[in-house]
Amino acid sequence: MKAVCWMGTSKVETLNVPDPTLLNPHDAILKITRTAICGSDLHLFDGFIPTMEQGDILGHEFMGVVEEVGRDVTNLKRGDRVVVPFTIACGNCLFCRKKLWSACDNTNPNAHLMETMYGYSGSGLFGYSHMMGGYAGGQAQYVRVPFANVGPLKIESDLPDDKVLFLSDIFPTGYMAAENANIQEGDIVAVWGCGPVGLFAIASAFMMGAARVIAIDRFPERLELARNLGAITVDYSEEDVSVLTALKDLTGGIGPDGAIDAVGLESHFNDAQHVYDKIKTALFMETDRPGVLRQAIQAVRKGGTLSIPGVYGGFLDKVPFGAAFGKGVNMKMGQTHMHKYMKPLLERIEKGQIDPTFLISHRITLDEAPDMYKIWRDKKDQVTKIVIDPWAERKAA
Ligand SMILES: [Zn+2]
Ligand SMILES: [Zn+2]
Repeated sequence: MKAVCWMGTSKVETLNVPDPTLLNPHDAILKITRTAICGSDLHLFDGFIPTMEQGDILGHEFMGVVEEVGRDVTNLKRGDRVVVPFTIACGNCLFCRKKLWSACDNTNPNAHLMETMYGYSGSGLFGYSHMMGGYAGGQAQYVRVPFANVGPLKIESDLPDDKVLFLSDIFPTGYMAAENANIQEGDIVAVWGCGPVGLFAIASAFMMGAARVIAIDRFPERLELARNLGAITVDYSEEDVSVLTALKDLTGGIGPDGAIDAVGLESHFNDAQHVYDKIKTALFMETDRPGVLRQAIQAVRKGGTLSIPGVYGGFLDKVPFGAAFGKGVNMKMGQTHMHKYMKPLLERIEKGQIDPTFLISHRITLDEAPDMYKIWRDKKDQVTKIVIDPWAERKAA
């Protein structure tokens, strides 16, 4: 089969690789009909996530049709159409029973690699390094889905793939981000980053009753999508724009009730702290560039809530923890508990409350994926979301 493989930092290739096979009785093999490149795949592309190995298949957002099931798979059969969550959960451990699916204790065979750094490991993830389980990803024609009784959500309606696909990550992730911001009717919410997760967080914040959402980014095409959802936008790259001042002005000097950092470890600013973080990460003296986190802690109102769906990996420098303490800021973060959100959000799509295709800018083939990684990383060609049809042939130039 064809698959998009990580070959080193800034190096991705589409290769012919062996088809996946059933390894355990609870596995299923999925023929993938749609997959996507995620913003968090760029952290792998940029070499920020350790324990990637040459030839690893990328991709954790995918859906398709069940091709084959192991003997213990009772919830699925050949021919079922499913969307698969990016976190892998066993359904049976202490954490799965608490519905903390992304904290599953049984799905990361390399948990020891995480325990040294984190104390305990989270669940395994598709296509996201060996320390997260080393599972092959879904930017491919087929994928092995472990714990197939637990994760995949059956799609019984005839909704097109593009409307369903984002239940694999970015829609639930944006929704949980908004839920984690503790939004009450009438709240003002600030969202840093109008990438896919930020955009779904904006849409979800309005669903939860936010009166106003303020969206912060620097790319016109992303700011436009945020405005289309009803957000007020702040372009931080404009001269003389101070995000902190803008947020104070827009909230009567109080600050937003909820702050959502949908950027994570590769934040970008045109200022001295950005240079500082660039140098420190290059020298391996810091693992992440927490510019947005610093700003969000500063900006959020006293007693407000900071929600962090953006990915962080390691050790952060100059985070104003004193400000967070002094203002009594609540913080919630972490990988999405996917299994909890997929079904209710599918129902919202089926009822027409949201059309998740609004952010798709590029539809490509597997062969075009390596170029698209570069284009998205370099923020060219007005990319907002890339969807891949793994069975389409490369278009003639
Ligand atoms: Zn993703
Ligand atoms: Zn579990």
